[in-house]
Parts: sequence; structure tokens; C-alpha cells
Amino acid sequence: MKAATSRPTFGPRKQDGPPHPGVMSIKKIWIAEGCISCNLCEDLCPDVFHVPAGGTSQVREVWKKCASTQEDQIREAAESCPVEVIKVED
Ligand code: SF4
Repeated sequence: MKAATSRPTFGPRKQDGPPHPGVMSIKKIWIAEGCISCNLCEDLCPDVFHVPAGGTSQVREVWKKCASTQEDQIREAAESCPVEVIKVED
């Protein structure tokens, strides 16, 4: 008996997520003047934001190495910042 062969199928693929999963679309993140050191950004995304004792928020050098799953947290932090000083460039 001849074994069934699996043949490749062509046509549009089903896509549930972004067109290129695993690739972060954020190009740049920075903190503008006016941070009130509330710590919210670090609470939401500690891999990217750090608020040192007595200082203002900083973007960690390693932020680009974060998995694309961090992108939502970065955007949430930017949208949640009470003084809107977290800037994100796509
Ligand atoms: S959320 Fe905004 S104000 Fe609060 S620490 Fe982060 S950058 Fe500063």
C-alpha cells in the first residue's frame, strides 16, 4: 500500500498576530523633562524602565534586547505615565 504524501498547500496564511512576530516596531524610547518619579513605568515594565532612588526614570540600555512581548508593556507605560514624558518612536 502506498503511503499518503503530504503536499504543500499554497494560498493565504492565517495570521492572528503582527505580520512579523518577534520583531519590535519601536525604534526609540526616551524620557522627556518632567518625570515626577512615580515609579509606574518601572512597575509596568521593569526590563525597560528604571527609576533610581532620588532620581527620575531612565530607559535601560538593554531595552532593544527585550522580547517583542515587552512592546505592549512599553506602550502601556507610555500611555499611563501621569505626566506623559515617556516618548516612543516607531
Ligand atoms: S511613569 Fe512617568 S512620571 Fe512616573 S516614573 Fe515613569 S516616566 Fe516618571
